[in-house]
Amino acid sequence: MSIVLYEVRDRVAIITLNRPDQRNAQNPPLLQELDQAFDRANDDDAVRVIVLRAAGKHFSAGHDISPEVLTYEPWKSMFDDVERTGLLKMYNWEKKHFLGYARKWRDLPKPTIASVQGACIAAGLMLVWPMDLIVAADNARFSDPVVRMGCGGVEYHGHTWELGARKAKELLFTAGFIDAQEAHRLGMVNRVVPLDELESATLALASQIAQMHPHPLQMAKRAVNQTLDAMGQYNALQAVFDVHSLGHANAWATCGQATIAGLAEMVPAKPDPSAA
Ligand code: ZN
Repeated sequence: MSIVLYEVRDRVAIITLNRPDQRNAQNPPLLQELDQAFDRANDDDAVRVIVLRAAGKHFSAGHDISPEVLTYEPWKSMFDDVERTGLLKMYNWEKKHFLGYARKWRDLPKPTIASVQGACIAAGLMLVWPMDLIVAADNARFSDPVVRMGCGGVEYHGHTWELGARKAKELLFTAGFIDAQEAHRLGMVNRVVPLDELESATLALASQIAQMHPHPLQMAKRAVNQTLDAMGQYNALQAVFDVHSLGHANAWATCGQATIAGLAEMVPAKPDPSAA
């Protein structure tokens, strides 16, 4: 069974994350298949709108941080030569596959809609924020707890843009959750619907948009995205990615390799000097 499903229904491409037993945790093959599915939808002239959804109870638990991930290249050999190359291999891999994919999907010419239920955690946000519209089930909840792993947020810093500065800080500082209603109030999601209406509401919105001519739709999307970039979003995303990477480096230096793959929470390796 494929870990990313793809179908086209009435001019709408439906891409489904399909690792429900792993809460749609994102491993390298899933990200690659997802990118291929977005390309396929974008290249198909019969597709007007792209929906991203997830099988099972939860949208995504974030990056797969099970030990299995360390069996995939390049993670398997990423740190073999770390004394010589430092964390540069990881930096480049994350830049391409985490920040780079999210940014690429954000700028796909066709309209995209995320359809979200249950938990959407850490890198789960990096799938929904780059989409143009978000429809949330009433049980959806959003969190970025990676401060616990030593970073100031996931690789794609949508937080401040999506939530405003104060809520972004609260979310990061507390590693807490924002529920669907609050996300709607903050403007992060477009619509909140009962869980059992999530699919029908998402597809109704998609088919409404699919009635429009594709050329002005593409221009409308570009108008908004270019405005965000003129406000500095592109440069801010690049800059904050480097802040994120400094977090990894600092966690490695103080707590060891396990924090890098997310296999351990940030714990003081040495006594906190301020506690003395
Ligand atoms: Zn990272």
